[in-house]
Amino acid sequence: MPQETIFSKIIRKEIPADIVYQDDLVTAFRDISPQANTHILIIPNKLIPTVNDVTTEDEIALGRLFTVAAKIAEQEGIAEDGYRLIVNCNKHGGQEVFHLHMHLVGGEPLGRMLAK
Ligand code: AMP
Repeated sequence: MPQETIFSKIIRKEIPADIVYQDDLVTAFRDISPQANTHILIIPNKLIPTVNDVTTEDEIALGRLFTVAAKIAEQEGIAEDGYRLIVNCNKHGGQEVFHLHMHLVGGEPLGRMLAK
C-alpha cells in the first residue's frame, strides 16, 4: 500500500483546507502557498502517488480532474483569459507531495512555461 500524505487527511476533512469542490472521485482545494492569484489543487480521492503509478482503472477519475478544472476555472472567472494545468512527477518534476495532483494556476499572465 502506498504511504498516505496530508492530502488524504484533507479529502477526509481531518485537517482544514479551503475545499472548493468535492465529489465521489476528486477533491479540489486552494494551495496553501499560492504561486499565482488563483492556485487550486485538484486531486483524485484515490491515493495514486505519481503519474508513474497510473493505470487504466484510473482513467475516469483522472479525466474528472480536467472536467473539474474547467468548471472551477469558470467559477473563478479565469476561463476566458486562460490558465495553466500542471502535474509534477518525481524529482525532476519537482513533486513534493506524493499523492498525484493537478495544479490549476491563473488569474494573471503566467510567463514562459519553464523557468530555465
Ligand atoms: P508539488 O510540488 O507538485 O508536489 O505540489 C505540492 C503542493 O501542495 C505545493 O504547491 C504546496 O504548496 C501544496 N500544499 C502542501 N500542503 C498543503 C496543504 N496542507 N494545503 C494546501 N496545499 C498544500
